Amino acid sequence: MTKYLVLFTIGSVIGSFCQVIAIRGLRAATLTTEPSHCDYCGNRLAWFELVPLVSYLVLQGKCRHCRNKIPLAGLFAEVAGGCVALYYREPSTDLLLLLIGFLLLIMSLCDWRELAVPNYLLGATAFTISAFLMVNNLFTIWHLLIFIVWLCYQRWPVFNKWLGEADLDLMLLYGVLAGPTLTCQAVLIGSGLAIMAFKVWQRRQLPFVPCLAIGYYWILWCLL
Ligand SMILES: [Zn+2]
Repeated sequence: MTKYLVLFTIGSVIGSFCQVIAIRGLRAATLTTEPSHCDYCGNRLAWFELVPLVSYLVLQGKCRHCRNKIPLAGLFAEVAGGCVALYYREPSTDLLLLLIGFLLLIMSLCDWRELAVPNYLLGATAFTISAFLMVNNLFTIWHLLIFIVWLCYQRWPVFNKWLGEADLDLMLLYGVLAGPTLTCQAVLIGSGLAIMAFKVWQRRQLPFVPCLAIGYYWILWCLL
């Protein structure tokens, strides 16, 4: 039990950092030098306002200074990060699979905020998947071919009319990582969640990447 609590805590701290990356981008200058602050009043956050989950609950989801609501995405990032870390099984866990989980979390947060995913995050995910396949001696000529198709697709985005730009990329990357069966299952889970979310929120356009990312939890469950 203690082990899972420690894992969840570490994961939620990483999840919180994922949220910072999703907001500020990967500019090292702002990530390391700019202290955490409230987006509304700009007040610097004290250490006790930075404890994952606990701070949000104690402050009842509001800034201590201006009482504006803290974005729910922050809480989502901490819970999701904690859940990714729970998959850690020493010593057999492939940490690259967990890294893909955290990259998906950053992409979900970007899609949630702006309905778009930066290309460098998709590139980093493709690179990590390649590394995972190579380390485990699974990389074949077929994987290389799929990656070439994926790179060509970047210059020929014909499907973007129906699907978000990153959605098809992610499905293709899932296919490379986990094969067609698990990918179909993950997409099915993601689509089911998207339909439910659509019914609840009634928004014209919904971010699909967070739904696909939840499908990745299923892939992790089956692979680990
Ligand atoms: Zn504030």
